[in-house]
Amino acid sequence: MGAQCTACSSHSGVLRCLDCFGTPVRCQACCLSTHRTLPFHRIQVWNDNCFSSSSLFEQGFAISLGHDGDPCPGRREGPDDEPMVDTQLDLSSLDILVIVHSNGVFHHRIQWCTCIGHPPRHIQLFRQGLFSASLTHVKTAFTFDVLDNFYIDAMECKTAGLSFFQKLRRFTNNAAPAAVPVCHWLHVTGFRSLMLSIQDRYRELLRVSRLWRNLQALKRFGFGHDEIQEPRPGALAIFCPACPQPGINLPEEWEVNPDQRVFFWLGSFRCSQAFCRWLFRRSLVADGNFTADHMKMRCPDADVTLTHGSGYMVENKRYIEHLSQTVERQQVFLTFKPSL
Ligand SMILES: [Zn+2]
Ligand SMILES: [Zn+2]
Ligand SMILES: [Zn+2]
Repeated sequence: MGAQCTACSSHSGVLRCLDCFGTPVRCQACCLSTHRTLPFHRIQVWNDNCFSSSSLFEQGFAISLGHDGDPCPGRREGPDDEPMVDTQLDLSSLDILVIVHSNGVFHHRIQWCTCIGHPPRHIQLFRQGLFSASLTHVKTAFTFDVLDNFYIDAMECKTAGLSFFQKLRRFTNNAAPAAVPVCHWLHVTGFRSLMLSIQDRYRELLRVSRLWRNLQALKRFGFGHDEIQEPRPGALAIFCPACPQPGINLPEEWEVNPDQRVFFWLGSFRCSQAFCRWLFRRSLVADGNFTADHMKMRCPDADVTLTHGSGYMVENKRYIEHLSQTVERQQVFLTFKPSL
C-alpha cells in the first residue's frame, strides 16, 4: 500500500478506523493512542492485499480505569505501602470484558484501579459510563449509550429485547451474526458449539435495562441523591393534573353538592361553570388495549420487584391481601349467533 501514518508520518499506516471522521490510516502506536478515549471504534488492518476486519482488542488495546485513562500506578495494598509502577502493561494478565455498545459487541482488556481504597469493580465501570451486568462476577458491561438506545427503540419502534440484541450482532458481524464471539476464551480455543450456546448477552440486556430504567425513574423523581429516603407508595408515578384532584381543580363542597354551578370573576365579568357529578369521577384504566390481560409471566416465582409499590403497580403483599378479600366476578361473554 505504501501509505504513511497520517498522525506521525514516520511509520507506514497499517490500521484504518471506520468510525473516525475521514477513515484515517495510522500506524499501530498512533492508532492505539488516538483511540484511548474512543474504545468502540471499528478497526481494519492492511494484510498486504486489502483491508480486513480487526479490532482494537486484537491490536493490543487496554482500557485503564480510575485515572482518566492513564494506567493505574499500581499502588497495591501492602505492609510497606510502596507504589509499584508498571511501566509496561502486561496484557496477558488483564481481565477481558464483553462490552456491549450501540454499534456492536466488543471485547476489551481492563486494567482495574488497584490503589488503596479503590472502589469496587462495578463502580469503577459505572464511573466510566459502563453498567456491569453483575456486582460480584464482572464479565459483561453495557454502555449507558446502548441502554438509552434500547429504551428509545422500545418506546418509539416497539423493538423487543431479542430483536435489539440481534441488531447489535448484525452491527458486529452482518455476514454471520450468530458467530459474534462474545466469549473470548471459547472463541480462541475453538469450542464452536459451546460458544454458540452462550454467546449472546440477551439475558443480561434484559436484566440491566430493567435496573437502568429503575435508576432513571428514581433520579427523575428526586431520589437519585438521597440514599436514606425510600420512595413512598406511588412516588414514582406521574401525577395526572387532568384527573379530578381535590384542592386543585375541584370546587369546594364537591362531595356534599356534586351537581352545582360555580361563579367566578374573570376580570370584571362574572362567569359561571356548571359541575356535574360525573366530572368528579376518576377513571383508572390499566391498559386501554386490553393486551396486559394476555401477558402471563412465565416464571412468577423468579420475578424480582424493584419498585415495591412506589411505581404504578401496587406492592405485592397488599395485592395478595386484596385478592384474598375480593370476590371474583366472572366476565360476561356475548356470543354472536348469525341467523341462518
Ligand atoms: Zn503513526
Ligand atoms: Zn477511530
Ligand atoms: Zn489506581
